[in-house]
Amino acid sequence: MADAKNSFYLTTPIYYVNDAPHIGHAYTTVAADMLTRWHRQRQEDVWFLTGTDEHGQKVMRTAESNGVTPQQWADKLVDDAWVPVLNTLNAKNDDFIRTTQPRHESAVQEFISKLHDQGDIYAGSYEGPYCVGCEEYKQAGELLDGTGEHEGQKVCPIHGYPVEMLSEQNYFFAMSKYQDRLLAFYEEHPEFIQPASARNEVLGFVKQGLQDLSISRNTFDWGIPLPWDSEHVLYVWFDALLNYMTALQKNVDGEDTPELFEKYWPANVHLVGKDILRFHAVIWPAMLMAHGSALPKTIFAHGWLLVGGEKMSKTKLTGIAPSQIIDVFGSDAFRYYFMRAIQFGQDGSFSWEDMAAQYNAALANGWGNLASRLAAMVGKYFGGALPQAGEFTEADQHIADVAAKAVADAEAAIDAISPNHAIDAVWTLVDALNLYITEQEPWKVAKDESQAGQGGRLATILVTAAEGLRALAVLLNPVMPIAAGKLWDSLGAEDYLGALDAQPVATAGEFGQLKPGTTVTKGEALFPRLEDTTN
Ligand SMILES: [Zn+2]
Repeated sequence: MADAKNSFYLTTPIYYVNDAPHIGHAYTTVAADMLTRWHRQRQEDVWFLTGTDEHGQKVMRTAESNGVTPQQWADKLVDDAWVPVLNTLNAKNDDFIRTTQPRHESAVQEFISKLHDQGDIYAGSYEGPYCVGCEEYKQAGELLDGTGEHEGQKVCPIHGYPVEMLSEQNYFFAMSKYQDRLLAFYEEHPEFIQPASARNEVLGFVKQGLQDLSISRNTFDWGIPLPWDSEHVLYVWFDALLNYMTALQKNVDGEDTPELFEKYWPANVHLVGKDILRFHAVIWPAMLMAHGSALPKTIFAHGWLLVGGEKMSKTKLTGIAPSQIIDVFGSDAFRYYFMRAIQFGQDGSFSWEDMAAQYNAALANGWGNLASRLAAMVGKYFGGALPQAGEFTEADQHIADVAAKAVADAEAAIDAISPNHAIDAVWTLVDALNLYITEQEPWKVAKDESQAGQGGRLATILVTAAEGLRALAVLLNPVMPIAAGKLWDSLGAEDYLGALDAQPVATAGEFGQLKPGTTVTKGEALFPRLEDTTN
């Protein structure tokens, strides 16, 4: 996935500040964090951007109903919720952009001025049904008939709330002009929209014909003013999409950062939820084509998290805050669960019962127990110093082969933006090691003095298991950095192999890296078993 520049730029959508984060947002952020940590361990030059979308009518109305200004509302949500949740999730982003920052606003005005000057933005009028929840004009055909309290009204298919008829004297972006170029681009770059289901949906939509896009509002003022007509503010989506570009143009202090732009533009991956796919796969590339800028390599649309069969939503009372789960299981287990249990790109369900079952089976009994058993045996049989191995048998070589294959398969899965398959591949090594320990029965070998010394069979078994665990620490560091770091420490690896974060994925599967005599310590359990899983 790395290009010739060896750089990797990935973004989350910027999150809308009218609400606090729920696990649906956390899912996107964790996926972004796992992928970027992985690419960093490939020794690529990585930039991970996230942030908040703060303009628009929905934020303005929420602020009004809370008796504060929109800026005060945005500041409070960002400080109290959106920035802290990154820490809760253990996400390691490089930048955090807010669309109310001057660096963003000035760069957006420059961008749209160019489009206006060259005739891609023109004045016109428009009337149609508008959903404030989506901040989008709807096509009459996609609306649903309301039921219950909304009986007799047309409602948004996503929000279930009535749409409003808006009639405005607006500015328009001449998007229809780019329809053929977009279709040609999709054809030439099948990797541009992923997964395939998302690509098919967008192709079908664009082939029906693109209309020009209304990109200004003059009925409220919470937005970026158009430079040539200050009565109008820019449509919030046009404003928000540009964050991916403006964040590389200036830093938070407003200083130009041409070296960032040169290094990272265009983005390798924009991760988005499938409900905002069209904005990213149709409007955004059309904007960039009009501007004459390079297009991102991939827009990847993931599915929805369902709770009780419904999309997570604050208004439907299914919203779960990430801290509710992380307080019980920890951030590593949260990251593991959501990255492995759900096929990335498809909808997935969350339940407390499944989360607890996976935690105990895979983390406490699978990986965690393996690590503590190895440390305990090195302590008991060799006084805590890793022994000198003897010759490898077929069984030992099999473990090394599984490790090498796990690395290759996981790398391929990361390139395919498939975090769940990457973890599946790594877990073949967890399972193989557990089986190896069961079959090799080191506690029995230890009873035979001729096999229990340096260079003997017992030593070879323990060193093989330790090498497998070393590989697991490297491979699982992007997913579960806290546990991987503890394991790295327990193996005494940092002293001569260096910091875990600096370990290249590519060489993780090569055995023979741990030195004889290394101090192996049995620390606290990586994943303590849950006694009460009923929550
Ligand atoms: Zn809607």
